[in-house]
Amino acid sequence: MRILVTGGAGFIGSHLCERLLDDGHDVICLDNFYTGSKDNIIHLMDNHRFEVIRHDIVEPILLEVDRIYNLACPASPVHYQYNPVKTVKTSVMGTINLLGMAKRIKARILQASTSEVYGDPQVHPQTEGYWGNVNPIGIRSCYDEGKRVAETLMMDYHRQNKVDIRIIRIFNTYGPRMAENDGRVVSNFMLQALRNEDITVYGDGSQTRSFCYVDDLVEGMIRMMECDGFIGPVNLGNPVENTILEFAEKIVRITGAASRVIFNPLPQDDPKQRRPDISLASGKLGWTPAVDLETGLRRTAGYFADRLAKG
Ligand code: NAD
Ligand code: UDP
Repeated sequence: MRILVTGGAGFIGSHLCERLLDDGHDVICLDNFYTGSKDNIIHLMDNHRFEVIRHDIVEPILLEVDRIYNLACPASPVHYQYNPVKTVKTSVMGTINLLGMAKRIKARILQASTSEVYGDPQVHPQTEGYWGNVNPIGIRSCYDEGKRVAETLMMDYHRQNKVDIRIIRIFNTYGPRMAENDGRVVSNFMLQALRNEDITVYGDGSQTRSFCYVDDLVEGMIRMMECDGFIGPVNLGNPVENTILEFAEKIVRITGAASRVIFNPLPQDDPKQRRPDISLASGKLGWTPAVDLETGLRRTAGYFADRLAKG
């Protein structure tokens, strides 16, 4: 198949492009390089089945493809809050543009939605039936509400125009090629530990997250895209839950760092707990994560150690 991956030069997108090429597909990576980087895809450039287009999805585009994975959107709070109006435009106008294209060329389109649609959840673990607890006017709203509208658009194009859609709700994902400067917990703690600097836990560290290794996520994404008769939304994530303090201690141990943990203020609207209920994904897609946290963190530490060594 010919497959378009928007946001293909980002962290998850670059792994998805790589896997789709390995599976024998032609892959078009479309990216405006806001948070993505050519370094993430440089190793794919020699493959004659791989193409790169510099484009912003806020502007319309027409390509002939069989599948569209829409990952284009900054994902870390630091990046999506840097230009919040642009973040909303990317999720809303960008998704409309891609849905219009999918409708015209009759391509199947998968939207990379997020656990953030559940906001600061009052149902735990989160099931797809839960409608969420999202602040519409806070500093995370540009991302959370943008992604919620994108889901609405997907469903409405499906109902109104019979567009063939898939929606996945991705929970915290980590692995090699996460941007060093994106302020997310995994990259921050890894770099702090590898430099023997203080580990910056926000709040008292009692908030929880559940971390999925990127290869597991990519497997789930492809299974969902190719699953017939099921459009989602479906949660994709690892249900093993840790407090952020436990997570900091794990990274210090794995890296052998001499770092100590310090406590900084908790950002506004930081969700207190997050863990996916993945029974729908395991029932419909036969998918469960295979990489445990220890193994995934060791691989990620190896990647960041190499980056630091190269300067
Ligand atoms: P990332 O920032 O590394 O990748 C996003 C990519 O999209 C980057 O390459 C960026 O340059 C590109 N992009 C941003 N705005 C664009 C635009 N207007 N036009 C074209 N390209 C644009 O983030 P990621 O972690 O790889 O996330 C990928 C997708 O998965 C995002 O949609 C994100 O919301 C979603 N997601 C990620 C996580 C996670 O834990 N990583 C969790 C939930 C959802
Ligand atoms: N966090 C932290 N220290 C950091 C970066 C993040 O304690 O240096 C916390 C953050 O407050 C949140 C959790 O780690 O509770 C996950 O943050 P991240 O930005 O990675 O993802 P999200 O909040 O979007 O799940």
